[in-house]
Amino acid sequence: MNLIFLGVPGSGKGTQAARLAQKINCLHLSTGDMLRAAVKEGTELGLKAKSFMDAGDLVPDEILIGLIGEKQQNGDLDRGFILDGFPRTIPQAMAIDAIFERVGLTIDKAVLLIVDDDEIIKRLSGRMSCSECQAGFNYPAKMPKQESVCDKCGGKLARRHDDEPEVVKNRLAVYKEQTMPIEGHYREKAILLEVDGVGSQDEVFARIVEGLKVSA
Ligand code: AMP
Repeated sequence: MNLIFLGVPGSGKGTQAARLAQKINCLHLSTGDMLRAAVKEGTELGLKAKSFMDAGDLVPDEILIGLIGEKQQNGDLDRGFILDGFPRTIPQAMAIDAIFERVGLTIDKAVLLIVDDDEIIKRLSGRMSCSECQAGFNYPAKMPKQESVCDKCGGKLARRHDDEPEVVKNRLAVYKEQTMPIEGHYREKAILLEVDGVGSQDEVFARIVEGLKVSA
């Protein structure tokens, strides 16, 4: 199965995409995670991306299209995939349509998690992630056993710089302006699956699994 996960920052798409990828045994590709890793390692890609990410702006299309194109050429997408955080603009959506058409790959569904702005601001202000393994936590919904320490690897938990309130406001505005139009792109293709993203992680996951008709 080849899927795209869409939703405003904080809608839970990263968490749900990772969980689904494990269940259906496919590749989970988060462009946000890839870019954060590049920034952390100080690679050329990271140096190019950092200032855009710090401001909550999108990294230029050609960089992201190049990244996904490379994954496709390396055969990484061949066993099924969930793209999480890509595409985020109409040019990115058109570019992967063209690449996938050329190589005979189809997108089965674009899953859109719907969560309103008030809930998003509440969620993002409590979101923390491990600076070592990137595991996600949320105060108070999913607290670590020990304050500021990752349950999985013992790494230090930190708030993402782009989850600071001023940057969040910009990220939400950027989503509405640049990413929302791609919801219409997939609706027109009749592959948009809209899922209520409010509720516990288990409840939202159950809705996704049911919507996609994935066997339990
Ligand atoms: P995320 O973790 O998906 O919220 O992504 C964090 C940041 O990475 C975004 O705010 C953007 O700066 C950048 N980013 C991730 N994916 C993309 C994309 N497809 N296009 C442009 N920028 C992206």
